[in-house]
Amino acid sequence: MNSPNQEAITLLKEYITINTVNPPGDVTPAANFLKDIIEKENIPVELYWSDKSTGRVNLLARLNGSGANNPLLMLHHMDVVPVDERGWTVEPFGGVEKDGYLCGRGSLDMKNYGVVQLMSMLQLVRQGVDLDRDLLFLAVCDEEIGGELGAKWMVENHWDDMAPEFVLDEGGFGTEGFFTKDNRLIFSVGVAEKQMFALNLSIKRPPGHASMPPKENANFILSEALARVAAYTTPENLTPVAKEMENRLGGLEQTVYNNAVMRNTISLTVLKGFVGDPPKTNVIPEHSEAVLDCRLLPEQDKDEFLEELKNVIDDDRITITPVLEPKWGSVVSPYDSELFRIIEEETAKVYPNSITLPHLVIYGTDSRYFRGKGASCYGFFPGPVSMEEYSRIHGNDERIRLESLSKATDIYCSVVKQFCAKR
Ligand SMILES: [Zn+2]
Repeated sequence: MNSPNQEAITLLKEYITINTVNPPGDVTPAANFLKDIIEKENIPVELYWSDKSTGRVNLLARLNGSGANNPLLMLHHMDVVPVDERGWTVEPFGGVEKDGYLCGRGSLDMKNYGVVQLMSMLQLVRQGVDLDRDLLFLAVCDEEIGGELGAKWMVENHWDDMAPEFVLDEGGFGTEGFFTKDNRLIFSVGVAEKQMFALNLSIKRPPGHASMPPKENANFILSEALARVAAYTTPENLTPVAKEMENRLGGLEQTVYNNAVMRNTISLTVLKGFVGDPPKTNVIPEHSEAVLDCRLLPEQDKDEFLEELKNVIDDDRITITPVLEPKWGSVVSPYDSELFRIIEEETAKVYPNSITLPHLVIYGTDSRYFRGKGASCYGFFPGPVSMEEYSRIHGNDERIRLESLSKATDIYCSVVKQFCAKR
């Protein structure tokens, strides 16, 4: 008989071998894989097609409780980001076990979550545990390209089938070296996330021959403005969540991660100013443009931020157009809830010397759609992940420690059981 931990490893291995790279993002085989496992345990499960022609499908399974309390929903996305095979030392979709790790795209983002969530559901059924609330398992198709046909679509079109009060999602790990420079083990639980705000900067000036430079060159003007942005440091602004982090850690050290927790950030991600393919070196282009990917703190008003940025750019010749705007508000989930307390307790049982920390997720997750509807969402994976391992997410040789997966399976199962079981 397999232990749940061994079963989790086997399941994750199989799940990784199902290529769900998005784009193209056909997750049909992954949904069928999960559906088969769930149906074998006689758990009601349904597929929701948001776009059949491209294989965009979401899966929802449900364990019914007495209804005394409101539902808990476990959320993960089945899709993964593309790989550049040249940088990998193992087959990214091979489900390779090596040196105490399980390697492959999705092993940390976020098929690992899907597997521990699935195990939590299966364990409850196998143990015949009666529930005081419905437990839902939702697997969505397209988080990696924004969630339009996945979480957002489910929330907009099938809210009544879910209506969770609490959601467990991605956005937290047993971190080492994220928040402190020493290697203290800190279990971060995402309770809020930054808002994504992308801005296109463009300028148009007369084109010309490089041999006779005109007075104004679109590329130079834009470069000078970008140099001002690069030299600018956004003001530090400790939100209530950041203050709570500071309290629990006894200070927020200067780490790259904490920097993004303490302020709005600006990254230059696109820069384009040339004519022809390959670019003509002797032509002064008419158009020059750039995109700034800005991440705003939860309470930050986007228009205020835009004004601040315009002052830094300080050049009316440059047109600034938002290409991605925060739409869903930015709610902070409470961290004095019973679920949060159970997460802390169950984690401490397995890792007595660790700290559990409500934290501000610095990237976007599907939780924003659920927070927008009033659900309390926690980003939580109770297994240790070092900064070195974390850096492989969306990169090369993504991998999870087998030990981490096992411990996470144990903790996740007990959290869900504690929170949902009849008492
Ligand atoms: Zn993810």
